[in-house]
Amino acid sequence: MRCLRVGPMSSHLVVDFTKCTGCRICELACTAKKENRFQPSLARLKIVRYDDLGIDLPNVCGPCETAPCVDVCPVYAIRRNPITKMTFLDEDKCILCKSCVGACVNGIILLDNFLMRIIKCDHCGGDPECAKACPTGAITYSEVSVAPSIDRHGKISSYLREIQRSAQESSGVE
Ligand code: SF4
Ligand code: SF4
Ligand code: SF4
Repeated sequence: MRCLRVGPMSSHLVVDFTKCTGCRICELACTAKKENRFQPSLARLKIVRYDDLGIDLPNVCGPCETAPCVDVCPVYAIRRNPITKMTFLDEDKCILCKSCVGACVNGIILLDNFLMRIIKCDHCGGDPECAKACPTGAITYSEVSVAPSIDRHGKISSYLREIQRSAQESSGVE
C-alpha cells in the first residue's frame, strides 16, 4: 500500500508568478515522481507561456473557492477536504466521463488517452516535488490563509494589466 506523508493541514501550492523563468523543471519533476519518466504532457501542473508579454505563469491545483471539478463529478470521485480545501481523486470511483477535465479552471486535470485514466495533482501527499524542484521559489508549499491563494487569478490579471500598461507607456501609446 502506498504511504503518503501528510503535510500541514492548511498548506497549499503557492505561486509567485513574478519569479517564474519558464524553465519547466517543475513539470519534469512532477512526471519524474508520478510517472517515473520525463513527460511534461502528463504533468499535474502547467506552465503557460504568454509569448506576447514574455512571461510564464504556473498553473497549479487549488485552492479554489468553489471547486468545479467536485461539483460536476456525477459519481463523487472527486471530493474535497473541508479544512484544507484540497480536492482529491478516488480513481476507483471514476467512470471517465471527463466532466472534471473541462470544468477545471486551471486546466490541469487531464485525461490520459493511453492508459485511460484521469490525471490530477494530489499535492504529492504533502511533499510536493514541483515546489522542491523549482529553482527560483516561484512555487512553494506553505501554510497560508486561503484568501491570498484564491485571489491568484485576480493577481495574475492585475499583473498582466500592469505589464500591458508599462508596454504602452514605453511605446508612447495612451
Ligand atoms: S520550476 Fe519554477 S521557475 Fe521553472 S517553470 Fe516551474 S515554476 Fe517556473
Ligand atoms: S472523469 Fe471521473 S473524476 Fe472526472 S468528473 Fe468524470 S467520474 Fe468524476
Ligand atoms: S504537487 Fe506533486 S502532483 Fe501536484 S503538480 Fe506538484 S509534483 Fe505534480
